Amino acid sequence: MNRFWSLFGLNEQPGPTKGHTNGGLPVPNSTLSYWRSELHPIDSYRSSEHLPSECDIAIIGAGITGVSTAYHLSRLHAANNSGKKPSIVILEAREVCSGATGRNGSHSKMRISSIRTLFKDYNAEAADECIAFVYSQSHLMKEAVDREGLDCEFELRRTYDVFVDEQDAKDAGETYRIAVEEGHKWVKEVSFVDSRYAEQITSIKGAKAAVSMPACSLWPYKFVTQLLSRMIDRKELSLYTHTPITSIDSSNSLATTLHTPNGSITTKKLIFATNAYTSAICPSFKEAIIPYKGTACHISPEKPISPHLNSTYNIYYDRQNDPDSKVDYLNPRPDSGIIVGGANWLFKSQKHLWYNTTDDSTLIPNTRPYFSTYMQDNFHGWEDSNAKITHLWTGIQGETKDGKPFVGKVPGKENWYIAAGFNGGGMSFCFSCAEGLAGIVEGKRYEESGLPRMFSTGRLG
Ligand SMILES: Cc1cc2nc3c(=O)[nH]c(=O)nc-3n(C[C@H](O)[C@H](O)[C@H](O)COP(=O)(O)OP(=O)(O)OC[C@H]3O[C@@H](n4cnc5c(N)ncnc54)[C@H](O)[C@@H]3O)c2cc1C
Repeated sequence: MNRFWSLFGLNEQPGPTKGHTNGGLPVPNSTLSYWRSELHPIDSYRSSEHLPSECDIAIIGAGITGVSTAYHLSRLHAANNSGKKPSIVILEAREVCSGATGRNGSHSKMRISSIRTLFKDYNAEAADECIAFVYSQSHLMKEAVDREGLDCEFELRRTYDVFVDEQDAKDAGETYRIAVEEGHKWVKEVSFVDSRYAEQITSIKGAKAAVSMPACSLWPYKFVTQLLSRMIDRKELSLYTHTPITSIDSSNSLATTLHTPNGSITTKKLIFATNAYTSAICPSFKEAIIPYKGTACHISPEKPISPHLNSTYNIYYDRQNDPDSKVDYLNPRPDSGIIVGGANWLFKSQKHLWYNTTDDSTLIPNTRPYFSTYMQDNFHGWEDSNAKITHLWTGIQGETKDGKPFVGKVPGKENWYIAAGFNGGGMSFCFSCAEGLAGIVEGKRYEESGLPRMFSTGRLG
């Protein structure tokens, strides 16, 4: 018996994606991320010994998308006050928030390079719509944090895109100038720092320019687990961890049956919040969402450093249009520790190390030496910090051809819904996409959902 599948109580890997890394499902023994270093009591929670045989709404995946969709659904039901509450069940292959959400950089922002791509690929109205969606998510999340009293280090803050290359700095300045001239809406929240002050303002050695934008950051695992436990306490849903969906039977047009090693459950409505892992159980997304591996670490100085780094960063070390461009992201923590991720240029050409894989149980070679003196090498004031890596991990994201997630009804399927295909900056969309999806599940048309048009599942080939 294959050792991996035996851990899930299976005799063999499930059918649809045979040959793919571990059948395309989450793997056991994932690398330990900093965010998962303080576990919540519901981490491996199961609402009852046996899976219920049926429910009204099943959500696959307990990352930020699945849990937030349940949250928005519960709020909609409470607001409608329409009699009996539907039964909602969340099914999770591993532990709560053990996927990308528990292993990311955890700042939510737009990047200037993504803004440039949006204006290249879409008209100005659609591009502005997408950027406004990200800006507004910070406020939507803040409202939830305050309403639910979540202790998750949530901060509304600024973020800098910092350019070390002269030409990149000029291009960023030009993008900003044109946006101001053409009156783009996104630029109202943005300011540009030129070469005179970029290094002093950002503390980054050799900075030639910086673009300052709105952002938020949080401890994602604490956000997800606390939100989920509030809903469990209020009896708004049931949760089954360590319950991978291995196959789905949709032969009955009124209900769908999900098969797991712990039994089967039949549901009236099904929501895929499985991001990178979607194609393993929903084959229509096989070509559309490809899993790929990224890496991040947590670095801690010997003692807290003053002045504190208040902003999050994306640092562009090289020409953005160069296929080997070097872009890292950083999220300073309130205690003076910092999350640093990226290093893609080290392994980009070795696709077998990171592309089309769901294996987050191993590290990517050479990343530890790259990050080990990162802060001392790149930041003024950190030279004598004796900063060291405390955690280094990998995580799996979902690549889509246009870099946008798929949100809405699953084409060709009655009562199947999806919010997946979130890539390396994807958390910036998840909470708001979950709100839009909840509206659609409850009968809204896509156009009424508040979702950007470019996220529609209608574009699935
Ligand atoms: C290293 C790294 C750094 C990142 N940095 C940032 C950042 O700084 N900012 C940003 O905005 N985004 C970032 N991202 C991306 C962001 O983390 C994701 O876009 C976001 O977390 C996706 O959330 P999700 O809930 O959709 O997916 P996930 O968190 O992956 O949740 C999906 C869940 O579904 C479960 N699941 C899958 N298949 C099954 C099945 N068959 N049965 C049962 N359960 C299943 C998984 O176990 C998982 O828990 C980063 C990602 C990585 C990996």
